[in-house]
Amino acid sequence: MPEQHNLFISIIIPCFNEEQVIRHTYQRVTQAMNSFTHGGYELVFINDGSRDSTLLILKELAQNDIHVKILGFSRNFGHQPAVTAGIQACTGDVAIIIDADLQDPPELFPAMVQKHIDEKANVVYGMREKRKGETFFKKITARAFYRTINFLSDTPLPVDTGDFRLIDKHVIEAFKSLPEKNKYIRGLITWVGFKQVPIMYVREERFAGETKYPLSKMIKFASTSLLYFSKKPLKLALGLGSLSILVGILLAIWVISGLIYRPNTIVPGWSSTVIAVIFFGGVQLLTIGVLGEYLGNMFEEIKNRPEYIIHEKINFTNLP
Ligand code: UDP
Ligand code: MG
Repeated sequence: MPEQHNLFISIIIPCFNEEQVIRHTYQRVTQAMNSFTHGGYELVFINDGSRDSTLLILKELAQNDIHVKILGFSRNFGHQPAVTAGIQACTGDVAIIIDADLQDPPELFPAMVQKHIDEKANVVYGMREKRKGETFFKKITARAFYRTINFLSDTPLPVDTGDFRLIDKHVIEAFKSLPEKNKYIRGLITWVGFKQVPIMYVREERFAGETKYPLSKMIKFASTSLLYFSKKPLKLALGLGSLSILVGILLAIWVISGLIYRPNTIVPGWSSTVIAVIFFGGVQLLTIGVLGEYLGNMFEEIKNRPEYIIHEKINFTNLP
């Protein structure tokens, strides 16, 4: 039996074109909340510029249930900005971030809160034991992604975790104080520190609809996590540059010694020159590319544009 507590709990749910699941999500989350909360709760749905009837359905839910709060974006800004908006707007003592597609089970909420209380954990992060119903490609890329980022990252990040996690007031406040715009949320939450403990769970199949993370968004996501959490790609450029200089010197020695000791065997051609030019050209472009990525990100940050624009807020003034 869960221990009594008086925590006010915020559930943060980013939604982009989720008309097929959103009602069901609302029901399952509500059921889970009613099974254990004593201190009240709010469901913060972020409508990330959905082009289907997600917003309409949410508004209908909000009319009948004061726990439902909606942040409506002016367009699609992306999953990470949506979660960020939720963290910034929520009023709970603890907040739980969960996807709208029921891949992460709301039934885990009581156990997460219990762990937060029992172990005095500031963060309880969901760790995936299994991923059901995802394509082989998605599993492989996810696996490679988490291993690579961990190898490259300056902050060690827990493997096989998503954004499904509970964070308490300390972490919420620390997160809110971070000024960067392009947020890789799970990395930042790890970075802020405090006591963080895992909770194991099985990642289910998407309840309905399709993934809203096409390859292009996955690549952008991976590159943010890499460039914002690691300076190693810059060092990689340095290493590659040094290596190619070494190769160049060895090549020069080989050519010169050939001229002196085996003058007849040297073909007076330009193949070696061409190879060298292409090789070094490649190394230079790669290096400039890495620099460009960092510079581009600095440009984005310096522009200091907001991460998202809120078009409407529903049920935020009424206290549940
Ligand atoms: N999402 C969002 N904005 C986007 C893409 C996704 O708010 O631009 C939401 C989506 O509605 C879902 C969550 O982010 O609640 C995770 O997306 P999805 O399930 O499609 O990703 P996957 O589980 O396939 O990685
Ligand atoms: Mg999903």
